[in-house]
Amino acid sequence: MNFDFADRVERVEPSATLAISNKASALEAEGVDIVDLSVGEPDFPTPQNVVEAGKAAMDAGHTGYTPSNGIPALREAVAAKLQADDIDADAKEVIITPGGKQALYETFQTLIDDGDEVVLLDPAWVSYEAMTRLAGGSLKRVDTAPHEFQLEPALPELRSTVSDETELLVINSPSNPTGAVYAESALQGVRDLAVEHEITVISDEIYDMVTYGVEQTSVASLEGMQSRTITINGFSKAYSMTGWRLGYLHAPESIVSQAAKLHSHSVSCAVNFVQHAGVEALKNTDQAVSDMRDAFRKRRDMLANLFDAHDVDVPVGDGAFYMMLPVDDDDQAWCAGAIEDAHVATVPGSAFGSPGYARLSYAASADRLQEAVSRLDQAGYI
Ligand code: PMP
Ligand code: GLU
Repeated sequence: MNFDFADRVERVEPSATLAISNKASALEAEGVDIVDLSVGEPDFPTPQNVVEAGKAAMDAGHTGYTPSNGIPALREAVAAKLQADDIDADAKEVIITPGGKQALYETFQTLIDDGDEVVLLDPAWVSYEAMTRLAGGSLKRVDTAPHEFQLEPALPELRSTVSDETELLVINSPSNPTGAVYAESALQGVRDLAVEHEITVISDEIYDMVTYGVEQTSVASLEGMQSRTITINGFSKAYSMTGWRLGYLHAPESIVSQAAKLHSHSVSCAVNFVQHAGVEALKNTDQAVSDMRDAFRKRRDMLANLFDAHDVDVPVGDGAFYMMLPVDDDDQAWCAGAIEDAHVATVPGSAFGSPGYARLSYAASADRLQEAVSRLDQAGYI
């Protein structure tokens, strides 16, 4: 049977990050020892008190549907978290979603019509492009690679790229895949452009807890931005809860009421007992979050030193757990070779809009990171 697939699915490719991680898993199943630095997934267990809260919620019978936009306790805890980030948030402006990805998906679907212009800062996380295409939008991209992935020096190019035609601008700080944390002054530059051209901004802050010695600024906390910003966040990275699938969006109420229609017709609600665990994660994990952050920081420094010792100049960011390693122009071939020959899995920069790099996730043990560098060295990849 030849199916006539919808254009919207035919215009996108599967997620490159997940595809490479699947390839690494398949090789591992064949008995090959792969150092998998492809997928961005903390390698720590979910904090035990959060696990216990999830189990207790299940035992207490929190196993049915919840209100579609989420349980009041979690929406309120999210609003309190955002208030601590200087956003004047209210629980009714929050939708709890199964993962930050769903929050992003609902936002793109709510705001983007056929032909609407979306602007990304490259390198940009793989799913922004796909979500734009799924919604029928058109893309413009501003490359931060010539500026060591910083936003401030890229602002002039951003200024000449956006216009009154721009519908949406996506900001992701700390950034996946570069680890860059944008300075408040740079974000104020974004604010000026957004206000001037009446652009709506998605601020994906999923790595906000993973910063090293710098403060992350929430875009919606900047003057004039809350009324035009959708803040996206999730529990996967901060609390090592990738498989629980929990995230949220915060937006002006008019956006929330439109997105809520998509939400109710697609996922109905996020998982009930997972939402209860989410309340615990937001309230009682300061120590666990700080321990994970310290571990990531040590690994980042170790990896940067190892590359330095091999005379490889890698821009090192102050957040998230990724590095963009400069590789051959044909980064796809480099990554395919690295997994085949060195058994080290990485993601080609071209999947993020920046060819000539390979993204490494350092959410792996120090031993495995050392092993990866030594394998890449021995196989002649660095
Ligand atoms: N945004 C960014 C930048 C990410 O790296 C991820 C990683 N998965 C997500 C959103 C979505 O994460 P999740 O759906 O697991 O919350
Ligand atoms: N965000 C992570 C990554 O970029 C997880 C995979 C995905 O959702 O794309 O590797």
